[in-house]
Amino acid sequence: MSGEQISLITPKWVLTLESDGLLEGHSLLIEQNIIKDILPTPDARQKYSSVHEVELPNQLLMPGFVNCHGHAAMNLFKGLADDLPLMTWLEEHIWPAEGQWVSEEFVRDGTKLAIAEMLRSGTTCFSDMYFFPEQAAEMAAEYGIRATLFGPVMDFPTPYGSGPDEYIEKIIKAHDQFKHHSLIDIGFGPHAPYTVSDAPLKQVRAMADQLSMPIQIHLHETEFEVLDAIEKTGKRPSERLGEVGLLGDDVQLVHVTQANEIDMAIFKEHNAHVIHCPESNLKLASGFCPIEELQKAGINVALGTDGSASNNDLDMLSEMHTAALLAKAVSKNASALPALEAVKMATINGAKALGKENEIGSLKVGKQADIISIDFNDVSCTPVYDPVSHLVYSCSRSQVDHVWVAGKLQVQNKQLRHFNVQQLLELAQDWANKIQASN
Ligand SMILES: [Zn+2]
Repeated sequence: MSGEQISLITPKWVLTLESDGLLEGHSLLIEQNIIKDILPTPDARQKYSSVHEVELPNQLLMPGFVNCHGHAAMNLFKGLADDLPLMTWLEEHIWPAEGQWVSEEFVRDGTKLAIAEMLRSGTTCFSDMYFFPEQAAEMAAEYGIRATLFGPVMDFPTPYGSGPDEYIEKIIKAHDQFKHHSLIDIGFGPHAPYTVSDAPLKQVRAMADQLSMPIQIHLHETEFEVLDAIEKTGKRPSERLGEVGLLGDDVQLVHVTQANEIDMAIFKEHNAHVIHCPESNLKLASGFCPIEELQKAGINVALGTDGSASNNDLDMLSEMHTAALLAKAVSKNASALPALEAVKMATINGAKALGKENEIGSLKVGKQADIISIDFNDVSCTPVYDPVSHLVYSCSRSQVDHVWVAGKLQVQNKQLRHFNVQQLLELAQDWANKIQASN
């Protein structure tokens, strides 16, 4: 058999994120797309002596990152408008640029660039909310990364459609196109409570139930959003979403920088998931997600980078680092979000939020082989007392060494295997030149 069909990976450590914790001197066997065995390396070499071995000395093997929120195609707007508050940034820069530039081709090229960045930095599954989700899905399928694409629903027209009815219709069509693809899911992405009225929210819920499709929505991104809603409707956006029936365990609430006891009780009642995007919240000065309180309330919190126009990278290692530090500052408690919990937030919690916890998010026999290795042969990670500490507080994405998605090797010795990187850089710069010339 070729190396891609069955491989024995022999790293220094395996961080399974299952109850067995951090294993030293263990190996992992991949067969096709599945993790088939995890066992001590001497036993593995004896039992699987004829199998192709991927030796990763001084490396840590772990589940791939699950980036639970982004707008991949916006990679083409990276660095276009910085240092602005959310509504100025959206209304004066991002929405006009999107109105002018977003097309099927824009989404394909931007998403391709984002996928290269994500794979190279250890993300094996991403969730995305953007126009033309079927184009993003085609890119994810072509380049072999797992993805849930949420097509947007809003009250107003965009290059993607004329209004809620057309958006919903197109998203269902994309769902039909990809419903049998093993790496791809399609969901509904009502943009935010302030851009979608009750009727389309109810329609989204009805269709999501009928077709078993997940839902993702930006919620309570800023204090202004909550105060404005209270002034206009007398209700907090969380209350309104609960009342229209949108919430459920298939719903991901993105940002949630505002969460009082009423909000938390609503989230918990419906088992909705919160997606924390700390770097985007910091950059747009949106506020701070109270993750410690949310977790204490029993709410699943996962991690996302948000789009590259508000971060400005798709780097889950740095997002995890920021999340761990920010949690301590916000709760005035240095014990908040310890390293291992931050790693879970970037992996298994994301898998739960996407309804994929039986497939991905940890290394377990029978699960999908979505696996990454981190190279500790680096001055930044020496000496080692606790590899998990380094993973969160010392490592950078340049140390991601190998990446497998569904057993297929996508990054080898820090190199993308299925991209022409030079061509990709030129493609992205061509877009930037066009966009800049028109500004
Ligand atoms: Zn977003």
